[in-house]
Amino acid sequence: MNDIKRSQTFKHIPLNKQSNDELFTMGQTFNELMDLLKENYEKQEAFVSNASHELRTPLTVIESYASLVKRRGLERPEVVKESIDAIHTEAVRMKDLTEQLLLLARRDQDWKLELSNIQLGQLLENIAKNMERAYNSKVDVDYPHSVTLYTDEQKLKQLIYIFVDNACKYSDVPVLIKLSEGPTIEIIDQGIGIPKDSIDQVFDRFYRVDEARNRDQGGTGLGLALAKELAESLSIKIDLDSEENKGTRVILRLNSLSSH
Ligand code: ADP
Repeated sequence: MNDIKRSQTFKHIPLNKQSNDELFTMGQTFNELMDLLKENYEKQEAFVSNASHELRTPLTVIESYASLVKRRGLERPEVVKESIDAIHTEAVRMKDLTEQLLLLARRDQDWKLELSNIQLGQLLENIAKNMERAYNSKVDVDYPHSVTLYTDEQKLKQLIYIFVDNACKYSDVPVLIKLSEGPTIEIIDQGIGIPKDSIDQVFDRFYRVDEARNRDQGGTGLGLALAKELAESLSIKIDLDSEENKGTRVILRLNSLSSH
């Protein structure tokens, strides 16, 4: 153990023979702890390196357009408009990205929930209206009953936004948000869908099915990772059903939270 401490590595203690005594059990537990620490350390490293990589791309674009304006701006006013548009788009992307990163980082300390009774139908109508405005596309809401739920409104809103945002980004035809007893909320699109072998990975931080097809839509690859954490803190179960070129259906199974 001292050797491991000195070298600051995640090595195992060699355990020669199986036995039932306390020293052997302690050795085994120590080795398992080392594995856990190593795994967390590697995850952390990957996260930092992904995050800096993601931030570098928009910064490079901003830098090159700013240089262009500096060199040519005065003699060629037309490059100014193009450059400002690009700089603005990338700045917005970077802002979204850092906001999501901060939220994910804060998750490790506990998120404080602010609970109240929420009218789900009203909440969904609101979300749909805002998304329609943002994407200039149609978002329908279907809710036969009035359903109330005791939960954190802002966090639930944020969670639903992530799925509706994806549904709008990755499809052209109207998106449907459906509320049923349970309560469950379904977000259904008929867009490009997710290939079978990617479904398990879309909830990973920074995972995108296809860098090329997604880059245009300005995704960060953090949306669903954040959704997973939000759902966990709200005791919501997420089921994701998707078929390539057919569409995606997300089912959120909600639960009332108790204030204790
Ligand atoms: P992004 O910011 O790239 O959208 P997300 O974490 O929200 O990141 O999603 C991860 C990836 O899952 C997306 O890049 C996309 O490839 C895929 N995806 C998510 N939702 C949908 C959807 N409704 N239709 C098709 N693909 C989707």
